[in-house]
Amino acid sequence: MGPNDKKAYITSKMRDFPRNPYLNHNICEKCGGKCCQRGGCGLMTCDVPEMSVDGVRKMLDTGKYSITFFCAADGNEFIPIPIINAREVDAGRVNNSIIRRPCALQGEKGCEFSDDERPTMGLLYIPIAKGDCRMLVDAMDACLEWYPYKAIMDEVVLEETGKSSEKLFYSGCVQAAMEIRQKLDMGVELTEGEMAAIGILELTGVIMILDE
Ligand code: SF4
Ligand code: SF4
Repeated sequence: MGPNDKKAYITSKMRDFPRNPYLNHNICEKCGGKCCQRGGCGLMTCDVPEMSVDGVRKMLDTGKYSITFFCAADGNEFIPIPIINAREVDAGRVNNSIIRRPCALQGEKGCEFSDDERPTMGLLYIPIAKGDCRMLVDAMDACLEWYPYKAIMDEVVLEETGKSSEKLFYSGCVQAAMEIRQKLDMGVELTEGEMAAIGILELTGVIMILDE
């Protein structure tokens, strides 16, 4: 995987959607980057130049990326799969929050990444002037792509935090449940990211904390 695969992948996806270009800075400027407020772009494996412990840690060193966790279900078991996202506001190198927050790379002049650097899932979210921008990648498929690299990513998580992906993911779920519980108790409206996190809490059973 690498930059060439990324170009080939984008070209193949755009064949299914030839009428719109995948970059349109005018439309995004007018919109003000609403999608970037919903979370940092997720990376696909073709966005990683060197899929190794050192390669991933070098990416974290840039301050532009974080490791986050995707939860895959295998029967009644839940497997946290570490993936990479564009870094979000207040997030560190490993971000175990399951509540997505605005992307930290969204500046006054738009995305801090160059067009070529921008993660593939961001590039394949096609801007459309009347809203209703179109995602050409299935997010679930993109996350599952990381599964074969779980051992490498788990090793990075361990070196970075001293904890396993499983422990970190679980504590992130508990933390999110407590934050959401507090807001509900105070009658504060939940954000889109918090509403989405409730789905993960239901899947993992951590939702029980909200019912106590
Ligand atoms: S892709 Fe769509 S939602 Fe995102 S900044 Fe551009 S116009 Fe706005
Ligand atoms: S990486 Fe760029 S395009 Fe993606 S969410 Fe962040 S600011 Fe937006």
